[in-house]
Amino acid sequence: MKIIVLVKYVPDIEAGYRFNSARRLDRTGEGLLNQLDEYPLEEARRLALELGAEVVALTMGPDEAEEAARRALQMGADRAVHVLDDALEGSDAVATSLVLAAAIGALGGADLILCGAGSADSTTSLIPVQLAARLQIPALTGAASLTVSNQVATIRRDQDTRSLELTAPLPALVSVTDKANEPAYPSAKAVMLARKKPVAVLDLEELEVDPAAVGPGAAKVTVMEIEPVPPRAGGQVLEADSDDVVAAFVSLLQANALI
Ligand SMILES: Cc1cc2nc3c(=O)[nH]c(=O)nc-3n(C[C@H](O)[C@H](O)[C@H](O)COP(=O)(O)OP(=O)(O)OC[C@H]3O[C@@H](n4cnc5c(N)ncnc54)[C@H](O)[C@@H]3O)c2cc1C
Repeated sequence: MKIIVLVKYVPDIEAGYRFNSARRLDRTGEGLLNQLDEYPLEEARRLALELGAEVVALTMGPDEAEEAARRALQMGADRAVHVLDDALEGSDAVATSLVLAAAIGALGGADLILCGAGSADSTTSLIPVQLAARLQIPALTGAASLTVSNQVATIRRDQDTRSLELTAPLPALVSVTDKANEPAYPSAKAVMLARKKPVAVLDLEELEVDPAAVGPGAAKVTVMEIEPVPPRAGGQVLEADSDDVVAAFVSLLQANALI
């Protein structure tokens, strides 16, 4: 069995987002493995122990994205593949899923493709479904738990008032949420072992992807404007000792279409 885990290198946005004059996220400076990608990595590690699978981490990004691949190796992946090409800078989700699909094809496909529920920087959550569509395999998104048995993947997707159980035959893609597990912190031994694991680099020519199909020139999405989220307005306080506080509360909920 082969599991491919998608891992993205993202800028450290703790200090807030910075944008350049082309309305693109400034990605210079410190970066790290997208935190939500730790959950699919942990699922892959568990399934590999359970089912005897090979785990391959796949990332597309600039030189620094090797750090995300290395972190994935520390977290249990057996090997990593880094798609690196100057033409990729400024690619939108459509181009990203095109390239990731080509890379998965070049790797000979997989029984299971795991990814995070969203990236910390762009957070479109488009990649899982676009990629599954390109590979023509089912997508089970938003997995709060995952089991694989008899070539069938089963997930639990938690919604506000209910949980759904969804199944799909393999090969399938599953996006995993932060409810699925508690990622184990890599041990010193795992960190040492990861140094010896290979990170293969592939470019667009090797993937047979036309450079004209990626980058800002091919982007289907144009960022028109960026503005900060307005600060939260202060809440409304209803005095509990007033006689008609319940009626006032109900009409407030109605006015805001909350009931
Ligand atoms: C006009 C435009 C210009 C852009 N310019 C740039 C740019 O210059 N540089 C840049 O990095 N981004 C750029 N982006 C953002 C880029 O398109 C998105 O990062 C990319 O499409 C992935 O979408 P997402 O980050 O929302 O992933 P989501 O769909 O939210 O991520 C879900 C999961 O998919 C996987 N995944 C996502 N991206 C990757 C990846 N690259 N490699 C491996 N796994 C992945 C991860 O497992 C992740 O948890 C640009 C976007 C637009 C619209």
